[in-house]
Amino acid sequence: MGRMLNALSQRDLELGPARDVEPTGHFRVAKDDDGVVWMVLDRTDKRVNTIDRPVLEELAGHVERFEKEKPAAIVIRSGKAAGFAAGADINQFVGASTEEIKAALDQGHQVLDRLAALPCRTIAVVHGHCLGAGLELALACDRRIAVSNASLGFPEVMLGLHPGLGGTFRAPAVADPIEAMTMMLTGRAMPAKRARSIGLVDAVVEERHVAAAVEAAFYGDLRRKPQSLQARAMGFKPGRQIAARMMRKKTAEKARQDNYPAPFKLIDLWEEHGGSPRAMQRAEIDSFAELIETDTSKNLVRVFFLREKMKGLKDGSSGVKHLHVVGAGAMGGEIAAWAAGQGFKVTLGDIKLEPIGGAVKKAAKMLEKVVKDPLKVRDALDRLIPDPEGLGISHADLVIEAAPEKIALKHKIYETIEPQLKEGALLATNTSALPLADLASGLKDPSRFVGLHFFNPVSRMQLVEIVSHDRISPETARRATAFAAEISRLPAPVGSAPGFLVNRALTPYMAEALVLLDEGIPKERIDLRAEEFGMPMGPIELTDQVGLDIALDVATSLRERLGENTLPPAPDWLTKMVEEKRLGRKTGRGLYDYDDAGKPKKIAPEALPDGSKDDPDMIDRLILPMLNAVVACIDEGVITDEEIVDGAMIFGTGFAPFRGGPVHYARQRGIDGIVQRMKDLAAKHGPRFEPHPGWERLAR
Ligand code: NAD
Repeated sequence: MGRMLNALSQRDLELGPARDVEPTGHFRVAKDDDGVVWMVLDRTDKRVNTIDRPVLEELAGHVERFEKEKPAAIVIRSGKAAGFAAGADINQFVGASTEEIKAALDQGHQVLDRLAALPCRTIAVVHGHCLGAGLELALACDRRIAVSNASLGFPEVMLGLHPGLGGTFRAPAVADPIEAMTMMLTGRAMPAKRARSIGLVDAVVEERHVAAAVEAAFYGDLRRKPQSLQARAMGFKPGRQIAARMMRKKTAEKARQDNYPAPFKLIDLWEEHGGSPRAMQRAEIDSFAELIETDTSKNLVRVFFLREKMKGLKDGSSGVKHLHVVGAGAMGGEIAAWAAGQGFKVTLGDIKLEPIGGAVKKAAKMLEKVVKDPLKVRDALDRLIPDPEGLGISHADLVIEAAPEKIALKHKIYETIEPQLKEGALLATNTSALPLADLASGLKDPSRFVGLHFFNPVSRMQLVEIVSHDRISPETARRATAFAAEISRLPAPVGSAPGFLVNRALTPYMAEALVLLDEGIPKERIDLRAEEFGMPMGPIELTDQVGLDIALDVATSLRERLGENTLPPAPDWLTKMVEEKRLGRKTGRGLYDYDDAGKPKKIAPEALPDGSKDDPDMIDRLILPMLNAVVACIDEGVITDEEIVDGAMIFGTGFAPFRGGPVHYARQRGIDGIVQRMKDLAAKHGPRFEPHPGWERLAR
């Protein structure tokens, strides 16, 4: 039985003895000839290991037995090919009371404390992902051996939490405390080698050497790295106070404390209790139980599920192996580079040579940033093939057109491309504003035509709007959606209405900011207010980032198509700035001036002149028109699933993730209140604030 289990589960992993295995539940337990017990975690009910109550209870039963039986040593590892464990099951606390949560945490801590206190040597062997509660289980062992493919991290902060199963005191105790704190504060996972260098693991080995490494750990040959002098200074409060100050500063650069309390809470805990594991443990449990009840954490958990839902829109494979991109400009170049980085063969064409050269250069830079491993960067660049003559078109499974936003030009391009397309190939456009039906009008086979609307920069903006039209075939929409997911972007299917979802919603936000600017409110203050609300970037800076020319184009075309009551007119000075080529960040000058690093030169909020103008309505003036556009899109059927709407706005615009998305925010704030507020704003500032009739249906 044991041998069979072993053979079936993962032939490539060293899982200890294959005979006399007790297949009791999620753990398989067997003792080898030296008296070493191997505990293999291999959840019977899940594809990846997560740590939850049943697992911990089962572990408790084994630990209790080991306390009596006293094995020579214990090895804990995972039988899943993907990795050690993906962390706690985030569903388990949904709906539980604070008391229940605390009781469950207490129980979990007791199990790991007893594991840590066993007199025999305990050795965790980790491969693949070893995250959150999985890492905390490994940290409760005496030694950690990482297989070279391991990736270790504490992602809790992304869910508005900090580690809750002992990570906050065990990680700083075994690893360099500052590095351990940084890990927990950023949520970034680290590769095995780096984990070794900070002391989080004791050895890094190839899989075939796991047995030898376990033996070394057993015989005591695997020594822990002694802590540095600086690390030891963190055992004392004055040392931690200095470090905590730095940590607060760095954290504040990324997140506002009011919106994202968890990392700041963790710094406080560590500063106060970092010298005493017991005190830290108590504080960790109390703080975790508090944080999990905050709206921030609940909304971030929601965002996690929204992402999963969007990934889940992929139904089967796209069948795309070779992508051809037409137009190597700002967008085409990035789409091509990104897809090559994701393993696709890409040919990249343009009417001119130099954009192709420029795109390849930028691709190298982008890939170095996102792929990192130089060998993988080289492979990705090998897959990106400059193709000025468009030879790739007739071989490609998908052609994405990213030529300038001119309908006649796009029609001309399709005329040349379409006859060359091979059977079954898809034709896509990256248009941001042109109606797909118009673009498809000259095509012989419009059923294979689709919009794949990427956002700038492609490497950072995870959303792709999958734009359909009357004559698209369901198969084309399905394959386009699958392709977006295959290149690790998040698809949101939308109808071909003006601005689709994201630009329709963002434009009023940016347009209102220009009205506020015209009223004499300093641009820094406008941006600050939006950032306080939780937007990743204020609307003025965003306008510069998008480019004043593009922003002006989109706003003008939306206003024409949606009616002049929907948006304020673009100010004359904006047209003038565009004529003068003050286009924003890309030209170094726009609404802000930019330094050589591309950073806007801003006056600090506290340095704004006394008495400079403000408007208490500012945030609602910026945010409510955005929500109004979102509601219009839902009501008009541009996109109907409210969760996908929220996901699209979060992953396409950065809409305050801790608020859970615009629709969720509106529901939490109260629809009636918002509608009334919009009516008041409309009376004061004009019809662009009139609530869309869709609000009424949303309220029902
Ligand atoms: P761009 O001007 O930077 O690049 C367009 C490229 O197309 C240029 O390199 C140009 O030489 C090339 N080109 C022109 N005529 C061609 C032809 N006949 N055949 C092949 N190549 C030709 O433009 P962009 O900003 O990359 O925009 C491309 C498309 O993407 C547009 O439809 C735009 O609306 C859309 N879009 C842009 C953004 C953005 O932020 N820039 C975001 C989303 C979508």
